[in-house]
Amino acid sequence: PEHNQVLNFAAGPAKIPTAVLEKAQSELLNYDNTGMSVMELSHRSKTFGKILSEAKANLTSLLNIPDNYEILFMQGGGTTLFSAVVYNLLAAKGKPDAPVDYCVSGSWSQKASEEAKRLGANVNIVFNSKKSTGSYTTIPPESEWKLSGPDAAYVYYCDNETVHGVEFPSVPTVDPSVPLVTDMSSNILSRKVDVSKFAVIYAGAQKNIGPSGVTIVIVRKDLLTPLQSASEIPTGGLVVPQMLDFKTLADNDSLYNTPPTYAIYMSGLVFKHMLENGGVDKYTEVNDRKASKLYQAIDNSKIYKAPVATGFRSNMNVPFRIYPEPLEAEFLKGAEARNMVQLKGHRSVGGIRASIYNAMGEDGVDALVAYMKEFEAQHQG
Ligand code: PLP
Repeated sequence: PEHNQVLNFAAGPAKIPTAVLEKAQSELLNYDNTGMSVMELSHRSKTFGKILSEAKANLTSLLNIPDNYEILFMQGGGTTLFSAVVYNLLAAKGKPDAPVDYCVSGSWSQKASEEAKRLGANVNIVFNSKKSTGSYTTIPPESEWKLSGPDAAYVYYCDNETVHGVEFPSVPTVDPSVPLVTDMSSNILSRKVDVSKFAVIYAGAQKNIGPSGVTIVIVRKDLLTPLQSASEIPTGGLVVPQMLDFKTLADNDSLYNTPPTYAIYMSGLVFKHMLENGGVDKYTEVNDRKASKLYQAIDNSKIYKAPVATGFRSNMNVPFRIYPEPLEAEFLKGAEARNMVQLKGHRSVGGIRASIYNAMGEDGVDALVAYMKEFEAQHQG
C-alpha cells in the first residue's frame, strides 16, 4: 500500500503527515541547492543554522512561547529528561536535599519518579493513582494531593500518559513559586497550552512531531544555572553531566556538540506544516472531535470498554478492551487486513490502543469507528 493508504495508529514512533515526508523526499539529495542532503550538512553551516532557527521560530509561534523561555533540542529521548530534570532543577534550587514532588498518574511518571529516587533526590509522591484504584484510570482531586509547598525544588507531572491513556484535563494548581515541570511527549502541540505556567516542558519528537532522536525542551531562562564542577559543589550535591545541562545547551543554541540534525529538520517541517494547516487552535478542535467520536463508539457498544474515567481520557492515546477478550486478536487481524496498523495495546497492559496524534486525520478515525461497528455487528450475542 501507499503511505497515505495506511492508517497508522502507533503510539510512537508514529505517523508523520504524508505531505511532510514528500517534502523531505523532494529535498533528500539536494537541499536548497547545496547538492547535499540535510544529513550531510555541517551543523555549524549557515544552511543548517537557518533550519534550526526556523524550527525554533515556528515552534515559538505554534505554542506562543514567551521571550523568557529557551527552546533546546536534546538527545536521549524522553527518558534522558527524567534524569536531566532532577539535575537541572536541584541545581537551580541550590539545595540538593529539597523535596521534589512527583504526581504519578501512569507508567511514565512512575518511571520518572523512580529515576529521581535512584539519583538520590528527596522524592515526595504527591499521589499515585494506581495505589488508590488498583490501576491507572483516573487522577485524584487536587484536594487530596500531598504537595510539599514552597520548599519543593519542583512539581513534576506527565500531561498525557501514553500507555494508560490518562491525560490531565488542565494544568494543576501549584504554589506559583515552585517550578512546574511536565512531560508532554505524547500530547505536545495537540491542544492549546499556556507555556508561562511552566518551568520546563519537554517532549520526545517521535509521537506528535517527527522522527525519534530529538527531544524538545522548553525551559524558563531564570532556571538556567551555571554548571559547576565536583570541587565547587558541597558534599551531597549532584554534579550535572555537561550534556544534560540546560544552560550549556542554551548558551550554545543546542550546538554544544553535534545535534540530531535530520530529526531537527524533520521536526521543523512538521511545525511549518502545522502552521500552514491552522496551527494549534485548529488541531485542538479536530483532536477533540476525533477523540469524542472514538470514545462514543466505545461507550455506545456492548463489546468495547474504555477503562479510563471520563474527564481524564486522553485525546491522543485511546486504550480499550474487547469482551470476551479472545476477540481482541481477531479484531487486530481484521484491522490489519483493512490497512489499520499498530493498534495493539502496550505490552504491559494488553488490549487495544488507538493513538490518534495530530498526523491522524479525522477520516482515519471515522474509518476505525466504521470497522469497530462492523466488527461488533458480526460478533453480537
Ligand atoms: N514519556 C512519555 C509520556 C512517553 O510516552 C515516552 C515513550 O513512549 C517516554 C517518556 C520515553 O521516551 P523515550 O522512549 O523517547 O525515551
